[in-house]
Amino acid sequence: MIRPICKDTIILGKKSVPATRADGLVIADLLDTLKANADRCVGMAANMIGVNKCIITFSIGTITVPMVNPVIVKRADPYETEEGCLSLDGVRKTTRYRSIEVEFLDRDFKKQKKTFTGFPAQIIQHEIDHCNGILI
Ligand SMILES: [Zn+2]
Repeated sequence: MIRPICKDTIILGKKSVPATRADGLVIADLLDTLKANADRCVGMAANMIGVNKCIITFSIGTITVPMVNPVIVKRADPYETEEGCLSLDGVRKTTRYRSIEVEFLDRDFKKQKKTFTGFPAQIIQHEIDHCNGILI
């Protein structure tokens, strides 16, 4: 189900709690909502649809990947950049890392550990910040 985008910075500023297998519907709604906003958005966290759970999703081309309870375990090669956010107006400066290693659960709640670089790494860092209540 496509959900409205939350722009309330009080809700967005709260740290999300870990997701469980009971949150399967949230994952589905997040994927639907990201696809519906694909023209202006490449990633989304669950609190952006008003659900205070640590779930993110991002697009690489036509593929949309969900991550449950993602944690960055390694970061390398910081750089300054500017980002926009569907929940905020305009762009803001931020520091990101060109390479990150992420531990997360996939859609079937299987443990995964993967390294991401470049643009996907940047999107993941932005969305994990959302889970921690951090806005750019
Ligand atoms: Zn954002």
